[in-house]
Amino acid sequence: SVKENEPDKMPPLSAVKCRRKSVADPEINKGSKRLSCVAKPPDRQTKRGKFGEASRPNQKFYEMIQHFRETLEITPLSTTDHIEPHRISVCVRKRPFNKPEITRKEIDVVSIPGKGALLVHEPKQKVDLTKYLDNQVFHFDYSFNETATNELVYKFTAKPLVQSIFDGGMATCFAYGQTGSGKTHTMGGDFTGKQQNSSKGIYAMAAQDVFAYMNHRRYVNLDLSAYVSFFEIYNGKVYDLLNKKTKLRVLEDERQQVQVVGLEEVYVTTSEEVIKIIQMGSSCRTSGQTSANANSSRSHAILQIVLRRNDRATTMHGKFSLVDLAGNERGTDVSSNDRITLVETAEINRSLLALKECIRSLGMNSDHIPFRMSTLTKVLRDSFIGEKSRTCMIAMVSPGLASCEYTMNTLRYADRVKELKGNSKANC
Ligand code: ADP
Ligand code: MG
Repeated sequence: SVKENEPDKMPPLSAVKCRRKSVADPEINKGSKRLSCVAKPPDRQTKRGKFGEASRPNQKFYEMIQHFRETLEITPLSTTDHIEPHRISVCVRKRPFNKPEITRKEIDVVSIPGKGALLVHEPKQKVDLTKYLDNQVFHFDYSFNETATNELVYKFTAKPLVQSIFDGGMATCFAYGQTGSGKTHTMGGDFTGKQQNSSKGIYAMAAQDVFAYMNHRRYVNLDLSAYVSFFEIYNGKVYDLLNKKTKLRVLEDERQQVQVVGLEEVYVTTSEEVIKIIQMGSSCRTSGQTSANANSSRSHAILQIVLRRNDRATTMHGKFSLVDLAGNERGTDVSSNDRITLVETAEINRSLLALKECIRSLGMNSDHIPFRMSTLTKVLRDSFIGEKSRTCMIAMVSPGLASCEYTMNTLRYADRVKELKGNSKANC
């Protein structure tokens, strides 16, 4: 990166004037992982910046990012794009700014130039106080920008997995990310105020497709029935969301089959019934909470659609697990550093680590699946074995500078999950 001599003393924010175009690295399109650009010395002219009044906190970084974006070629994903089948797919979704973020003029540090690419423009400062951007590039199977709808996300993530459960496999879709990044919005449906539109989430869209497949002539002769269960894992314990949060035991038999003892399994015949069950379970999940996101952000919610053959009602034909994971943020918030929070955080970290290891085993066709590492991976054991198992992870990121560190953590985790596929092509 360019070394500069003029120290930038961080003037009061309101005094920051227009800055010249920052150095955009042409390497950007060549897929190098880490790119930097440094701000040129301040322009002595007094004209206003082309990006408006200089009243924004971190105005300089804002302008550097905007200038950088001008160099990007943007070709967003569209509904007509080809969907490649993946055994393990890892995608990323960036949510739009919310009202408070707009009000405080939060800076958007995430760019999604194309199909699978994502850039984080991390504002940094050298020892001599020169400001620069650390532009980091990631590549995933698909990347969704802030304008993507749940329908579009569904089409490229969970939808391609539906068929596998009819072919006798296990399908699993995870929503991963920090609290507030859009996991529940994506899985459970978008919100209008506090009201969630359950028919517009991946849970409901998957259910609709399950019934479409069931009536398809290719599968109708299998004579299948669908059952739904919905439960939550909090601090390593399972609670049934369809039965007043009854605490349930997880047992493993001598054949390593894992069972959640007494879990409600509701027989369903239409997607409307499934949507009602989702609403019931979701309200059960959030009831009794004091602060807005208190418990639901610290628990994993798992909706399962199980297919059983009518002639052999006890054997499972296939299973779709849709998982709204606990927030992955570290317990660094000192205000909540009490013992309970620390225990919760340790448990969440352990289960997310276990999950990564188990997906890695699936990707490598390993015989050893470390599913006993956590309750989450225990109850999802079936997801990590078998030729026909398919997994999709959607990593959710918030766009703002304030979330930059969490965003980087999320992307590094997702990158690790993807890296395990032995698919180096996706990395170049
Ligand atoms: P999480 O479950 O990851 O904690 P939520 O799904 O509850 O996050 O989302 C936090 C807030 O952001 C909600 O108010 C939600 O409506 C909003 N939100 C999340 N993703 C989107 C999106 N893609 N478009 C619009 N609003 C979103
Ligand atoms: Mg949530």
